[in-house]
Amino acid sequence: MATTANLGYPRIGANRDLKKALETYWRGELAFDKLEAVAKGIRAANWKRQREAGIQYIPSGDFSYYDQVLDHVHMFGAIPKRYDALKTKDAQSLYFAMARGHQKDGVDVVAMEMTKWFDTNYHYLVPEFSPETVFKLTTHTTLDAFNEAKALGIHTRPVVIGPLTFLLLGKMRNVDGEGDALALLPKLLPIYQELLAELKKAGADWVQIDEPFLALDLTATQRDAYRVAYDALKSSGLKLMLTTYFSGLRENAQLAFGLPVAGVHIDLVREPKQLDAALKLLQPTQLLSLGIVDGRNIWKTDLDRALKLLGQAVTVATIDRVIVAPSCSLLHSPVDLANESKLDGEIKDWFAFASQKLDEVALLGRTLNEGPMAKGIKEALAENKHAIKARSESPRIHDSKVKERLNAVEESMLKRKHPYAKRIGAQESLLKLPPLPTTTIGSFPQTVEVREARAKFKKGELSEAQYDKFLEEKTAECIRFQVDAGIDVPVHGEFERNDMVEYFGEQLSGFTFTQNGWVQSYGSRCVKPPVIFGDVSRPKPMTVRWSKYAQTLTDKPVKGMLTGPVTILQWSFVRDDQSRETTCKQIALAIRDEVQDLEKAGIHMIQIDEPAVREGLPLRDADKKSYLKWAVDAFRLSSSGVEDATQIHTHMCYCEFNDIMDSIASLDADVISIETSRSAMDLLGAFVDFKYPNQIGPGVYDIHSPRVPKQEEMVTLLRKALEVLEPEQIWVNPDCGLKTRGWKETEAALIAMVAATKQLRGELATPKKAANG
Ligand code: GLN
Ligand code: ZN
Repeated sequence: MATTANLGYPRIGANRDLKKALETYWRGELAFDKLEAVAKGIRAANWKRQREAGIQYIPSGDFSYYDQVLDHVHMFGAIPKRYDALKTKDAQSLYFAMARGHQKDGVDVVAMEMTKWFDTNYHYLVPEFSPETVFKLTTHTTLDAFNEAKALGIHTRPVVIGPLTFLLLGKMRNVDGEGDALALLPKLLPIYQELLAELKKAGADWVQIDEPFLALDLTATQRDAYRVAYDALKSSGLKLMLTTYFSGLRENAQLAFGLPVAGVHIDLVREPKQLDAALKLLQPTQLLSLGIVDGRNIWKTDLDRALKLLGQAVTVATIDRVIVAPSCSLLHSPVDLANESKLDGEIKDWFAFASQKLDEVALLGRTLNEGPMAKGIKEALAENKHAIKARSESPRIHDSKVKERLNAVEESMLKRKHPYAKRIGAQESLLKLPPLPTTTIGSFPQTVEVREARAKFKKGELSEAQYDKFLEEKTAECIRFQVDAGIDVPVHGEFERNDMVEYFGEQLSGFTFTQNGWVQSYGSRCVKPPVIFGDVSRPKPMTVRWSKYAQTLTDKPVKGMLTGPVTILQWSFVRDDQSRETTCKQIALAIRDEVQDLEKAGIHMIQIDEPAVREGLPLRDADKKSYLKWAVDAFRLSSSGVEDATQIHTHMCYCEFNDIMDSIASLDADVISIETSRSAMDLLGAFVDFKYPNQIGPGVYDIHSPRVPKQEEMVTLLRKALEVLEPEQIWVNPDCGLKTRGWKETEAALIAMVAATKQLRGELATPKKAANG
């Protein structure tokens, strides 16, 4: 008999219950035992739901108050030194201090660093290692979860992050810089042995051991470490399900199946073609877990197609050795489609959230065992077939005009009329900017007043005319401030926008929005990505009205503000029936129209934000080139339809640029603004080394803190920039949008920024002394 498994379930609760409880607890308005009760309730509900769906391998230990990597740090006692003072406190104080920092009772420590979990939008806390790190099994989170489920009569398969992945996720600091965390493996393995032993003692038989790094590019040393580690764990007496996801095993397949583990899980959604190799390499005693239901998107599984792949597996391996599963943990899916009461019925029938995905997994398992004609199965498969067909044929998905237009895109549409060196002259004579022009990244404070007005408008308590008038007032105040402060290139302030992607999605065809499609981003923070279900087009101009209005209020050039195609794609649930490239280019054409309409409306400077370009980068080196090519093409398609004199800006923040510098340059934006202030202009190094040819606005202060930067600090940073860049290349701006800031600090900071700029302009005007060579 084939069996079914789940790899992890969303822990935020059906109504973001964990988020609410955590935030009340952090405010000191909820006792810890009350928070524990909420968590316990969520875990119990999740286990029961999975049992009821008919899942055989149900995970435990997949719940977390904040983050599963942090849970392991805590469990293994790998607590960074700076939290020493908190070790005497209760376990939860230490835990949340690592997650969020701690500033109380004379202790002042910052949180652990956070970064993206592979190519998802989930963020984990980065383990901090040093050669002195000692591991000690300190808490028993996984064991406790297993026992808690057992007490409810549910036998679970505990989930642990594998030892290699745990180390590779972390950062090792040696005295002389960054080191190799694998050096700690001999110290870590006994802890895993201990952990497995206590799970075994409690009655576990299988353990899901997550090793997503096995599906990434590995060095020879890392592969050897895999052999050493799993050799050390083979005597645990537990069956290990070595779990990989987000990419294919590829050249590591032999290594993975050669390890002494009782089963291997592979992601067939991301890489269906790895099935063949897996079937060849599967050892006679091993089970093969097939991730066939997409854990990272919201579409119903095409069960017919899934059954074909599963059928292929069953004919090679015996049916008893096949496990049907989601591709990865369902942590990355919204919880339950049943909570959507406002979704259009036709579209809703195309979706499956985590709860529905469990049913799909169970149905696939039953079909393998009982055949597609069995009672109940036949009907369910027919229903699925109907939904899949309806979606693929729906006129709401297909817009022949969009498809034709995309097919007709020519190389010339990806290019500005002339190269930058030629454009710059036309721009200078049109824009007439001073040296070191000052600007901002787009948004101004989204105050309570602004958010309340939007909420009232959405509820119908404000008429459209009233809301418009309110936004005009805010825009006018914002322009007035910028002009008075001496900002050379004002922006309208983005008061009309809730979010930089949602705002555009709401106005584009092919997008829809859920009420409750929340997915955990980090800690208690959740995001609700728009859904791109159909061909994307722009029925009418989206931002022209605001930019045009702002431009009537000043003689200075107002910068138009758009979100780029790659970022819109990256921060949405994307349709799975065509390539991401195609969808991205459809969005690009819509943005191109907007760019051209802005130009026609007299806006001669247009910023197209692309903060998400870097995070879309595939995990495997072999896949990077083709992504970068189409991502760059999409940006160029969106930005190239303008005259030479129209200046295109782009903005990127919080990412490593070094490895994609040539692609950033290929965007051919006239100006790029980047975040650099937190790393004191270190990032700028990438641009300098590359000899970036166009203009750059290195952020001169960090907008993520309410702290007002001093004029001298910004002067120092700008001097650094002037040392390595030509003065004509440099713009002066904060490092990101100001929407999360208050007006008071925003005003003070921008006034100081202008003062710093003026000081440097003065210095530039007086010729340098020749002596200092
Ligand atoms: N224009 C956007 C803003 O200022 C850019 C936001 C971002 O980079 N994430 O808010
Ligand atoms: Zn930014």
